[in-house]
Amino acid sequence: MRIRVANAVRQTGEPFPFEAAETFAPQRFGERTVSFAGPVTVSGTYVYDGKAFTVSAKAKAAVDTMCARCTKPFVEEVEFSFSERFVKGEDEATDDETYPYSGDELLLDKAVLDNLFLELPIASVCREDCKGLCPVCGADRNTTECNCVIQEAQDWQTRPVSDQIEE
Ligand SMILES: [Zn+2]
Ligand SMILES: [Zn+2]
Repeated sequence: MRIRVANAVRQTGEPFPFEAAETFAPQRFGERTVSFAGPVTVSGTYVYDGKAFTVSAKAKAAVDTMCARCTKPFVEEVEFSFSERFVKGEDEATDDETYPYSGDELLLDKAVLDNLFLELPIASVCREDCKGLCPVCGADRNTTECNCVIQEAQDWQTRPVSDQIEE
């Protein structure tokens, strides 16, 4: 995802609007692989201050995910906004606060993905009132009514009395 910014260099301090979209390949993020159900769309402005560009934008992504309660796959819409600085060349851009660029294009991929990962929930649920799976038979309790009796963890109470008598 690139934006051409040559026009902004000649008009310091003037914000220029842009829109961009790209379908990213699956990305590794810590323990998980994030897959996309469609293009990530970004719209905002870039402005040159004489030394660096600041990109301020809103973004939308549709991420393939799995419900933490019922394990059903679903697409989660994630919206986020960010404001990042892009500094020309290598030397000034080696800190964590800025992104490097060269030529008259900004490559937004890393800034967009870094901000998306910050926004991703640790556990996603397909809907607020998802009932999840039955811990006994594994049925999806959103669609199936099972008759399982859910016991608490103390299973010694449920064993036959004879088992509990030591010989
Ligand atoms: Zn669910
Ligand atoms: Zn059940």
